[in-house]
Amino acid sequence: MEQHECIIIGSGPAGYTAAIYAARADLNPIMYVGLQPGGQLTTTTEVDNFPGYPDGVDGNAMMDDLKKQSERFGTDVRWGLVTAVDFSKESGGWHTLTVDETTKIQAKSIIISTGASAQYLGLPSEEKFMGFGVSACAVCDGFFYKGLEVVIVGGGDTAAEEATYLAKLCPKVTLLVRRGEMRASKAMQNRVLQTSNIEIKWNTDTLELLGDKSVEAVKVKNNKTGKEETIPAKGFFVAIGHKPNTEIFKDQLTMDETGYLKTSPGITATELPGVFASGDVQDKIYRQAVTAAGTGCMAALEAERYLSALD
Ligand code: NDP
Repeated sequence: MEQHECIIIGSGPAGYTAAIYAARADLNPIMYVGLQPGGQLTTTTEVDNFPGYPDGVDGNAMMDDLKKQSERFGTDVRWGLVTAVDFSKESGGWHTLTVDETTKIQAKSIIISTGASAQYLGLPSEEKFMGFGVSACAVCDGFFYKGLEVVIVGGGDTAAEEATYLAKLCPKVTLLVRRGEMRASKAMQNRVLQTSNIEIKWNTDTLELLGDKSVEAVKVKNNKTGKEETIPAKGFFVAIGHKPNTEIFKDQLTMDETGYLKTSPGITATELPGVFASGDVQDKIYRQAVTAAGTGCMAALEAERYLSALD
């Protein structure tokens, strides 16, 4: 069985940043890119808020750059999906991963950067306009809708936070809530209710998105009265939750009630020696490429210190 110092699972900004730091520290990291090489940013068109790109950058191009940068220092980037893990509980123990359900490989340190996936409504028109009016991240894409009317769906803290964020950029924000109340905390709800250019439509379901090449309007239906209406909007933001990609870590690592990995406060170490978690898989609050990259850096530095202490 192959044995290594460090294996990184996942290839988003957290994974690649961890790879750059781990490779430069001579840990000869192996990275398994997973099902969506490059992660969530490969589904965005323009990334405007990652420091260092004054004119913005295409999400795919940015992830290609990160890949090249990590390979320049010797990261072994491999196609493959980690389908099972068997983590050692001993300090210095070998952690065993199964790749593509067949190949076993071991490492003394593991950096988990498997990310989270935004939940979508599942409408065909939503898929059609992905990147052309449909977004699951107001902080990432809201700027492109400055001065335009938008619709956002969801009733949790994310929807409340993103609706108020969008209300600073857009003349009108319509918030679609599928029930007669919001799940968001009272403080967040109050902020929404006190923002004059947010209109909440309660008990409202999204039927479809209308438009030619990009979103022009949103057709909705009140699920109590059955009344349908069409809301003009150039942007449609989905804020109905994220699912951290942590299925394979069940029974191995501690997670919160929504499946996000728990790390020690302020660092990326999990409760198991040599196992670190970085990026959206352990962050349900910020979920930004730059914060993911920051925790990727932290994970690699912590892995390096962990391995040095073993020596
Ligand atoms: P949540 O799971 O809390 O909320 C999801 C919302 O989307 C719910 O209102 C839900 O409705 C609605 N929803 C789900 N599916 C659909 C659907 N198919 N159609 C329409 N609406 C739908 O997710 P969040 O992302 O808002 O929050 C996740 C976690 O992160 C929470 O614990 C939250 O508190 C936390 N968070 C904290 C922040 C902060 O502290 N600043 C900021 C953002 C998030 P219903 O209520 O009917 O189920």
